[in-house]
Order: sequence, then structure tokens, then C-alpha cells
Amino acid sequence: MGQSVLVPRAFLPAARSAALPLAALCAVAVLAVLSPAPAATAAERPLAGRVIAVDPGHQLGNSRFPDRIDKRVWVGLWKPCNTTGTATNGGYPEATLAWQVSQRLKARLERLGAVVRLTRTTNSVDDWGPCIDTRGKFGGRVGADVTVSLHGDGAASATRGFFVIRPGLRAGYTDDILGRSRALAHRVRAGLLGAGFAASTAYGGDGLDARRDLGTLNLSDVPAVLVELGNMRNPGDARCMTSAACRDRYAGGLAAGVRAYLTR
Ligand SMILES: [Zn+2]
Repeated sequence: MGQSVLVPRAFLPAARSAALPLAALCAVAVLAVLSPAPAATAAERPLAGRVIAVDPGHQLGNSRFPDRIDKRVWVGLWKPCNTTGTATNGGYPEATLAWQVSQRLKARLERLGAVVRLTRTTNSVDDWGPCIDTRGKFGGRVGADVTVSLHGDGAASATRGFFVIRPGLRAGYTDDILGRSRALAHRVRAGLLGAGFAASTAYGGDGLDARRDLGTLNLSDVPAVLVELGNMRNPGDARCMTSAACRDRYAGGLAAGVRAYLTR
């Protein structure tokens, strides 16, 4: 069989007719380079000048470094440096969920003009950490306006839906970020609801929780929330989490929440 048979006949005229618009587009691009473009408006880049810390939770290789991740760190109480995280029943790890959503979230926030800093820059079985104290301090260290930490829950399989955890009061640790973190939590919840996700059927049922024992929140000096995107042990949530389209929808909801908080 000849090679040409593999080229669909219908494709050729389409490619030819596309040549003119492409040339026109190139001309526009050249003009854009030659003449100074008008500055992007605030409406186009509402998060220009903002820095957002995104924490993609547990590192994929944590389980291979038990000595490192079990080491205790002080976060207002003693906690292990890190944990392995959970997974879907099919074996899709929490670390990979958080990583993949963080990449989509980063892209969406950057499109809105923000600078995004990640607490880890790999998702690898060869890597571990960073520890929760480092991740908690990260937002302040990089001059972030807010920190959003991403996780997937590993609850009883009947439980489903997301919830947003804000810091509870721990004097000397979270008192400085309490009110602003609550406001951020409410905006992020609204963002996820707006993206079509349902609040968790557990933890009070309102999609919100407060915790005094999470290092990522306790050590933050900028408003911070920890989002459990859903229950990885629930078949419906797991189906969504293992779909790229659904992970992008998570990112859209999170970005909408961060945007609403920073432009309130
Ligand atoms: Zn987690």
C-alpha cells in the first residue's frame, strides 16, 4: 500500500485554505512586535504583581525514605516531617494528584498575571519531602500573598467531596493569619462549588474545616488553606481525579477562589 493513502484526502484542501489566515496571523504578530502593545489591563491580568505559593503536598517518593519522613519537626507540636499520602484503590497516588493539579493551577494563575512558586519542583519516586515545617514557612519566605496546599483525602469509601481546611487558633503561630485564612477558605470553597464540585459529605458537611495540628498551616505567615480535593477512596471522586479534564476543573475552581480572595 502506497504511503500517500495514509493522508486523508479531506485534510489537504483544509491545510491549503488555512495558509491565508496563518499569513494574516503572522502579520498581526509582526505588527504587535513593531508597535508598542498597550499595557494589559487590570481586567486581563487581575493578579499581576501577586505571588502565590502552591504546595503540592506529599512527594511521590516519600514511602521509600521512611527514616527521613518519620523524623520529628516542631510545628507548634511535634509532627513527622512528612507522610506517604494516600491513593485511589486503583493505585493513583495522592502525590501525583496534587502535583498534576498544581501544574494546571500554576498555568491558570500565571495566565491571570500571578507569579506562582511551588514547594516542590519534582514528582519523583527518587525524591522525598520537603518537610511540613519547610512547606509551612515557604509562603513567607518567597513573599507570597497566599499559600494553597493540595491534598486528596483517604477516608471511608462512602465519603465523597472536597473540603477546605483553614488554620485553627494556635497562639503565637496562627493568630496573625486566622481571619484572612478564613476569608481565603470561603473564597476557595466558593470557587470549587462554582466549578461543579460538591462539598464533602463528612467533616460537618459544609466543605470547611479548621485544624490546629497541621504544620503547613501552623507555620505559615501568609493566609493559608489546605484543600482536600476529594476522597481518593471513593469510586466517584477517584474517577474524577484520574481524569485530566477533571483535574483541570479542580484547578479552575481553585484559581477562581484565589482570584476572588486577592481581588476582594
Ligand atoms: Zn495529604
